[in-house]
Amino acid sequence: MFDPSSSIQDFLVFGEFGDVNPSITDSSTFTFMTPERMEELFEHEIEGCFLYSRHWNPTNKYLSKALARMEDSESAQVAASGMAAISSTLLQLCESGSEIISAHTIYGGTYAFFKNFLPRFGIKIHFVDIQNLAAIEKLINDRTRVIYCESISNPLLEIADIPKISALAKARGLRLVVDNTFSPLILSPIRLGADIVVHSLTKFINGTSDCVAGGVCASDEFVHKLTDINSGAAMLLGAVLDSTRAASILKNLHSLHLRMRQHSRNAQFLAENFQNLGLKIFYPGLTTHPQHELLGSMMNKGYGFGGMLALDVGNLATANRLMTRMQEEKVGYLAVSLGYFKTLFSPPGHSTSSEIPKAERDAIGLSEGLVRFSIGLDNDIEHTFERIKKCLRETAVI
Ligand code: PLP
Repeated sequence: MFDPSSSIQDFLVFGEFGDVNPSITDSSTFTFMTPERMEELFEHEIEGCFLYSRHWNPTNKYLSKALARMEDSESAQVAASGMAAISSTLLQLCESGSEIISAHTIYGGTYAFFKNFLPRFGIKIHFVDIQNLAAIEKLINDRTRVIYCESISNPLLEIADIPKISALAKARGLRLVVDNTFSPLILSPIRLGADIVVHSLTKFINGTSDCVAGGVCASDEFVHKLTDINSGAAMLLGAVLDSTRAASILKNLHSLHLRMRQHSRNAQFLAENFQNLGLKIFYPGLTTHPQHELLGSMMNKGYGFGGMLALDVGNLATANRLMTRMQEEKVGYLAVSLGYFKTLFSPPGHSTSSEIPKAERDAIGLSEGLVRFSIGLDNDIEHTFERIKKCLRETAVI
């Protein structure tokens, strides 16, 4: 049976002198023994030969290979941010006149890129409830190129039925692109039928909130297209990851399985205890979550249901008071982003999802009182729960 972390475990690269970590490429450019060889490489890629670091460099190649192992894709390519991975993928797949069908609950930056940016280039977006397969099918036409969703959505933690959406996409010759940022290791979307997986490596995969990075996992053919010298969106838009960062992310990737287990264990504990307090809680590990069984049917066993949860405390003023108290009580930080070893919390309607207009947020159930948590790696989660409970009491949530 495929296990993503065992697949990464088998990825061993020696450094130049037998170092246990691969050597870091400290060069933007590479020498050639002859001008003919240089010309040859401009015409087609040759394994093990490098031209210029915006195109490829050995360190970025190592991290890309490790990501491909994790997602069980033929190939992968790293980028300077999750948004760079997403934007280059979509710009590679679409042209003026193309249409994209996207889940309406997605990260606010992706939503803004779709809604405000792509239409400037003649690309049309349809936002849809990704649970509603009939609605997706109805929107497909000859111009549709892509169905886009997040495996576990930001911030409402809805689960996309990847096998069913993939069947729809395949029947109509479309590409299914899945953002797997919230669920690395937990879900393997390509094995479930997705064509392309995008990641913000900034989050769980790096895990130390010290850099911004992204990745695209896909077929050899698609990665070649992305990096093509003459027409590749990644190559020509140029959002390349720095090699020193690629090296540090690769080291962190090797402990991802341990971290994901602990994030999930802690989130499950808090979610169950919040639910016992009668709070309105969104967490896919709860049996009351509408897609709990669906996630169970798709997930790789042993990594839990993830480190993200959301709590609806009714209104923004209460949410703000609660977050301020939790930061004072050292539960974690009032900060956007996720996947850090400390707990982070933020109000999505006024931060990472603020790009989504209020009327649409209301329509999708993204309440003003929603607090999104990225649960940390706390060793004593019971103590953390007691601290949160104190804050909930003091802000009259319970
Ligand atoms: N996808 C998801 C689900 C995210 O939460 C984010 C950022 O918050 C991104 C993509 C964008 O990633 P980055 O900030 O690395 O560009």
